[in-house]
Amino acid sequence: MTAVHNPDALIWDIPGGIHPAERKELSNRTPIQQAPLPKRLSLPLAQHLGAPAETVVAVGEHVLKGQLIADANGFVSVPVHAPTSGTVSFIGPQPYPHVSGMFAPAIVIDSDGLEQWCSLTPCQDYRQLDRDALVALIRQAGISGMGGAGFPTAVKLNARPTQKIHTLIINGTECEPYITADDLLMRERASEMISGIDILVQLIQPDQVLIGIEDNKPEAISAVRSALSEGNYQLKVFPTKYPSGGEKQLIQILTGVEVPSGGLPADIGMLCHNVGTCVAIHDAVVHGKPLISRITTLTGEALATPMNVEVLLGTPVGELLAFAGLDQSKLNRLIMGGPMMGFTLPDFAVPLIKTTNCLLASTTAELPPPPPAMPCIRCGECAEACPASLLPQQLHFFAIGQEHEQLKAHNLFDCIECGACAYVCPSSIPLVQYYRAAKGEIRDLEHKQLKAEQSKQRFELRQERLRRADEQKEVERQARAAKAAQAKAAQAQAAPAAGNDGSAAKPAGLSDAQKKLKIEASMAQVALKKAEKQLATHARAELQAQVDELRSAAASAQQALDTAIAANPPTAATPPAAADGALKKAKIDAAMLRAQVRKLEKLETPSSEQQNQLQHLRAQFEAAEKRLASLEAQTSATSVKETEAPDSLKKAKIELAMKRAELKKAEKAESDEATLHSLREALAHAEQALHQAEGASNKPAPELVRTDKKPIDQATRALKTEVAFARADLRKLERDENSPAEALAAARQRLADAENQLQQHAGNC
Ligand code: SF4
Ligand code: SF4
Repeated sequence: MTAVHNPDALIWDIPGGIHPAERKELSNRTPIQQAPLPKRLSLPLAQHLGAPAETVVAVGEHVLKGQLIADANGFVSVPVHAPTSGTVSFIGPQPYPHVSGMFAPAIVIDSDGLEQWCSLTPCQDYRQLDRDALVALIRQAGISGMGGAGFPTAVKLNARPTQKIHTLIINGTECEPYITADDLLMRERASEMISGIDILVQLIQPDQVLIGIEDNKPEAISAVRSALSEGNYQLKVFPTKYPSGGEKQLIQILTGVEVPSGGLPADIGMLCHNVGTCVAIHDAVVHGKPLISRITTLTGEALATPMNVEVLLGTPVGELLAFAGLDQSKLNRLIMGGPMMGFTLPDFAVPLIKTTNCLLASTTAELPPPPPAMPCIRCGECAEACPASLLPQQLHFFAIGQEHEQLKAHNLFDCIECGACAYVCPSSIPLVQYYRAAKGEIRDLEHKQLKAEQSKQRFELRQERLRRADEQKEVERQARAAKAAQAKAAQAQAAPAAGNDGSAAKPAGLSDAQKKLKIEASMAQVALKKAEKQLATHARAELQAQVDELRSAAASAQQALDTAIAANPPTAATPPAAADGALKKAKIDAAMLRAQVRKLEKLETPSSEQQNQLQHLRAQFEAAEKRLASLEAQTSATSVKETEAPDSLKKAKIELAMKRAELKKAEKAESDEATLHSLREALAHAEQALHQAEGASNKPAPELVRTDKKPIDQATRALKTEVAFARADLRKLERDENSPAEALAAARQRLADAENQLQQHAGNC
């Protein structure tokens, strides 16, 4: 960036513009005064463009000067700080500086008169801060544009990252008649202003800085020039013309570049800040002071001593006017702002806010009421005066007809509401009022359309979501159905396979006959083990003989089981249910094929295709019949094996029991020897038959087991009972730890005696 101010630097002119009476001399002859501390201050939560701040204090809370009382509520918002120390006495609707006389949310502080500051954190060297930290300091200080628009400064500094800001414009124009706040600020605080510009330069890193001041402020120009003597910013002084202070107009004057219609200075790499904003940035960063006061012009012929004051935000307008010597009898119209762009205040109770650069208490002679409006005579004066090259008379007609599209097409929103057109209008038409109303209508309409569009989008998105959910459900349903069909098909495939070779059937187990043999073998083993146990305890001859018999019986039972399993291994067996199912299916297949074959055979003149089909079906039918025959043979063999052997064994047993019963009956009846012999022979044959049947079924010989069940005599029974009782008594005593040794010895002796007696008796028998 190249250095130094240059008085002869190039400047450009803007279209239109007017030269109303400046009347700045009323207030620019005295230094800035300090306004008195009011007893009560009202701080609106919306003193800027964007979302109102959010209260962070409560009624009754004591606050210090500079303390945060309402925080920024969103990106385009700024916080509010207590302008003095005192107590929060009210939070709610309060008179607001607006032409309508509206109320708006505010925090009311009753001053304690002490002006006690909160702890401030000045930044000694902001150059050490990164960009975000520096912007955060400005944001936290609650700074919004001090020129009148009130746009949050930190938001303005967050220009689009891709957009390089090459030119920083500092607006010291103050073109509006009567207002001299910036003039006095530049005169008295030029060094702070330059310091603020330094901070902006640190943030933005522009290629050049242009400071624009109208030539009607010689003292301010001189002060800034002096402050710049060691600086490297370019001061541009240009002829006074209203409204040179408009942002777009100033850029055009200083650079010759026009901001495109509907665009922003940032779109062409430029940024514009007011001189008052620069001082506020200096105070915030260097001293850590938030924005709690500003310099405001108190002027107009209704005031005895017009002046500029440094005043705390929230100070009631009435108190300020009183301080400047308001003569109520002279007052005709009280305006916040200048005579061109300001608005009439309906109430003295409204507070001064961050954007208030002037209070104009005018007399009737000074600002006479406008004459009644007359019809437009299409003189074109308004178009000549418009600095934005608009067609004010056309806009006026479109506004009356509420032709919004035409208004937008004729760039209504490029109108800066400077009032130059209305100022020159010979018909005294309040043109700006029409434009403001039309802008409001269009914004309302667009807001409603936007909301409707958003609702529509939400509805369409919901419909789309529901549609996708339905589709997803349908896909899932189809997937489930396909999976079920697959499982069914796999089952259907598995069934015939099992019917054909048994490989896919459930594992075959033992047949019923084999199970029976297995149980008998197990029982024989159990009986053998029991006897062996007894033999181990009482080694006697008859027990040894019994064990031998039982061992032989167990071996025979096991052999019978092994033989049965070897003859018909369990793995080769087809489970009855599967075999039944396979047989049934084979029958159905064969029947269906047969029906198809017969149907085709009935055709008198079958086509070649039908003949081929018949041949194919016959082959299939033949295979099906073979399969059926095979399954039927398998089933019948299984059935014979499972049913025949047990039946013959049963018959033999019954026959033997009958022959034995006949013999016993004959013996009891003391029949003759010939009858008894015949019956004994019949019994022997029955026993033979049973042995054969058992042999066929591989069952152990029954007579070996029966030896254990020979009838015993009364004496043996009594002795056995005595042995059992003696053994039980002994065990009972042995289980009891406290049993006397004598009792145990007696019990053992009793058992030994009983066993000896039983043994002797058995030996005698
Ligand atoms: S200056 Fe007034 S009368 Fe003339 S054209 Fe414009 S609006 Fe009509
Ligand atoms: S108020 Fe609008 S239309 Fe009228 S002169 Fe100013 S910019 Fe042009």
